Amino acid sequence: MPHAASVSLRNFGHAWYAMGVTFDDVRAQPNAVRALKQALANDRVASAYLFDGPTGIGKGRAALALATALACPAKPRVGCGKCDVCRRIAEGKHPDVRVIHPREEGDQNLQIEYIRAEVLPFTQYAPFEAAAAVMIFTDADVSFPGNHAESANAMLKTLEEPRANVHFILTSSRPDRLLQTIRSRCQRVRFQRLPPTTMLQILEEHNVPVAEREAVTGLADGRADVALALAADGTGSKLLELATRIDAVVESGRAGPAIELAESLAKRDDLPLALDSIVAFYRDVAATALAMPASSLVFGRSAPAIQERAKTLSPERAAARADAIRRAAEAIDRNANAEIVLDSLLLSLRAAT
Ligand SMILES: [Zn+2]
Repeated sequence: MPHAASVSLRNFGHAWYAMGVTFDDVRAQPNAVRALKQALANDRVASAYLFDGPTGIGKGRAALALATALACPAKPRVGCGKCDVCRRIAEGKHPDVRVIHPREEGDQNLQIEYIRAEVLPFTQYAPFEAAAAVMIFTDADVSFPGNHAESANAMLKTLEEPRANVHFILTSSRPDRLLQTIRSRCQRVRFQRLPPTTMLQILEEHNVPVAEREAVTGLADGRADVALALAADGTGSKLLELATRIDAVVESGRAGPAIELAESLAKRDDLPLALDSIVAFYRDVAATALAMPASSLVFGRSAPAIQERAKTLSPERAAARADAIRRAAEAIDRNANAEIVLDSLLLSLRAAT
């Protein structure tokens, strides 16, 4: 399956929009949208923004909506979403609104040559047609990681010497990985995970079968990109199988299979999602043992595996296992060695209380 975390605006490319993108297209982000609309209305749009929040929640759309509002001649500072300018922005064909993704290869960071050839001229000469120009960097922490300082510093210079009517929007789900000096130059706008009602609507619009919507929503935790990736290839049931298999190995108390499993898990592209699924499995087991309503479960009613397991594993121990796995996932997320963390997790999980 695709690595869920890599699914982003790129995969739902903005050519997807048949019309221009306005703030009406940004769902369930009232605080972010209010702040940006106010800045537009008061003529106080910052020269650089950092849109901060998980993937798949609308940061890219909001960035296009802000660019549209700044460039649209028909409804200045709002964006009509219908005129030629609005449409060209949505199609990626307007010279004053550029969307720049991380590189496809290697560390994916933007090279200094690219910054010199593409970014600096834009910041010097734009806008070419519209009243304002906007450069949007998606996954900016990947494009400008703190450990590749050269291009980040070139970018920083640009941010430090803003020209009127040239704006930058950096979007990131891991802003802590951006060079601190870049972060501090940007006005931060926080985006929230989408509420379940919005997630269910999005799944419905993408014709995801009703039966799958709940599990997918539970696992995706408010990220539409993850939910759609899960729904696309029936991954929900595969992840439940994986969780059941891991539980069996843990329960056997045998070190050999646990170490083998840790090794294969550590190699998975979708490790964060796999760990989330195991956490969800144990939480569902605890919730089932406590007779909580099916609507609070991730794998839910369709999971006899969970019903069965709830008969033999106490809710306290299931909850302790979920906690231990969550802590391991957090350690891996902070760059701990995945195989070492998983080894020790799987060997100690049976005893977790
Ligand atoms: Zn327009």
